[in-house]
Amino acid sequence: MSDKFWQNKPLDALSEDEWEALCDGCGKCCLHKIIDEDTDILYQTSVACRLLDVEQCQCSNYSNRKQFVSDCIKITPANVEELHWLPDTCAYRLRAANKPLPIWHHLVSGKKDLVHHLFHSARGIAVTEQQAGDDLENHIISVIEV
Ligand code: SF4
Ligand code: SF4
Repeated sequence: MSDKFWQNKPLDALSEDEWEALCDGCGKCCLHKIIDEDTDILYQTSVACRLLDVEQCQCSNYSNRKQFVSDCIKITPANVEELHWLPDTCAYRLRAANKPLPIWHHLVSGKKDLVHHLFHSARGIAVTEQQAGDDLENHIISVIEV
């Protein structure tokens, strides 16, 4: 990985390792969203994808995830600007807009856990599908501005 790649290289010039390292590990993108088909309003819920480890905020089977969650979307330099539901803090979203990473990001701070300690992750928010039951609407936590 090259020196300070996260601020010196555009997204489409990152190596695969650099791309993966850019993720802050917040896990927020792995929380279910629901859309009201009458209004097109998109809501964020606290209910985690079945593969998300809600404590670690990591996908529990990242390399094989498509076998279990076929609609899991792979973020790429080509689609990141269309994924308006990504949180404002998402490192890919920030760098796509040529904004700096926050000081708590592990590449800047050197501390992987700061994202959790400073409440920028899904830890403490996310509930499992089993805990949530059938009705996602009971677990709406915000409206997603698109
Ligand atoms: S929202 Fe962005 S930075 Fe956070 S886990 Fe998802 S891809 Fe990584
Ligand atoms: S399959 Fe893994 S990466 Fe995809 S949404 Fe679920 S937990 Fe996140």
